[in-house]
Amino acid sequence: MTHIKDSDCRVSPVTLMCEECGVDHSSACPECGGRGFHKDRCSQVPNWAPLQAVVTPEQMNDFMFMGVVPISGIIRYKHCDTRRYLNIGPLSLRTYRFLSLTGQYVLISRDEALQHVFA
Ligand SMILES: [Zn+2]
Ligand SMILES: [Zn+2]
Repeated sequence: MTHIKDSDCRVSPVTLMCEECGVDHSSACPECGGRGFHKDRCSQVPNWAPLQAVVTPEQMNDFMFMGVVPISGIIRYKHCDTRRYLNIGPLSLRTYRFLSLTGQYVLISRDEALQHVFA
């Protein structure tokens, strides 16, 4: 049986890992409190679909999921090499640039966003 939520697991009090699936339960998610697994609709669950729609499968491997921006729902991905961000609207698949001066995300073209993140 595949474990998909914390209550499926038999956590060892010694290792804090599930004795059946091996998932680590030693720390809790700051948002949903889940230990081995996030609870439903936790925004910390990596959502790779928007990135998949914007970059090639090879490029996918170079990105880290950095979470979801509150309210706007924009998803932030960070490129491992350039350390730059690709910010994508989850449904619109529009791309945004973060302006540190104002703390806002502004719409930019996909070409601009890709140039920025791979620069
Ligand atoms: Zn388990
Ligand atoms: Zn969570």
